[in-house]
Amino acid sequence: MIVRAVPLDEVGAELGMAVFAALSDGTGIAPANHGQKALRALRKAQRALARKTRGSTNRRKAVRRIARIQMRVADARKDFLHKHSTIIAKTHGVVGVEALPVRSLSASATGTAAEPGRRVRQKAGLNRAILDQGWGLFRTMLADKVADRGGRLVEVPAAYTSQTCACCDHVEAANRPSQAVFVCGRCGRRANADTNAATNILRRADSALKPVERHRAQAAQ
Ligand SMILES: [Zn+2]
Repeated sequence: MIVRAVPLDEVGAELGMAVFAALSDGTGIAPANHGQKALRALRKAQRALARKTRGSTNRRKAVRRIARIQMRVADARKDFLHKHSTIIAKTHGVVGVEALPVRSLSASATGTAAEPGRRVRQKAGLNRAILDQGWGLFRTMLADKVADRGGRLVEVPAAYTSQTCACCDHVEAANRPSQAVFVCGRCGRRANADTNAATNILRRADSALKPVERHRAQAAQ
């Protein structure tokens, strides 16, 4: 553990679709969408595979081609996640994130439609995996890297972070007139919606830590 004379900044991070992550300091990480770019190549390779004869050399080659595309996406994604989790962990001692199971973000893509054929389902699973933004892995990396530097990742309740005014605490669905904009119905605060949510996450992380900090201060006296 590294002991620092000056504590590092605290930051809240909202993980989402429009940006990969929005930080409470107003910065954002653009989504890399590695899978999106590879999806066409993957679908083409899957169609080619479907035309190959079972047990043939060409079929094996087609299977390998699909595996290569998936590996390329996974590697690029991992690089991206490592790069950005390192940047955040280097400059922040406390990182707040929503205690949202990442699974639920992609749950709608799973759907509940009547079970299609097995191979179709496998294929859909692969395509879904390739579109995964990697938030789960990102949180794990962040937690590890922040902890390595003596800080911590704080998970906070996710409820209403996007509908709450980070300025006056007013909560209302109408505070969020669009995906991108936050306008408070009470104090009139206007902000980037993701930044506002990230600020609420930071505030919750901060208040979650307060009792601990007070305890530490008392212990130090
Ligand atoms: Zn307000």
